[in-house]
Amino acid sequence: MAVPKRKVSPSRRGMRRSHDSLKVEAFHECQNCGELKRPHHLCFACGHHNGREVIAPRGV
Ligand SMILES: [Zn+2]
Repeated sequence: MAVPKRKVSPSRRGMRRSHDSLKVEAFHECQNCGELKRPHHLCFACGHHNGREVIAPRGV
């Protein structure tokens, strides 16, 4: 059986796991209308992106 040469100390293990809690946020609130939208994508509810209207809103 393979045995690790050095045991990882509780401190080092904790430092490694400090990044494990970061989660990917798939949706953010639109700054214009508050609707959920994908980051770096334009909002399909109001057609805004980065503070200005890019396309006309759907259903108009
Ligand atoms: Zn919007």
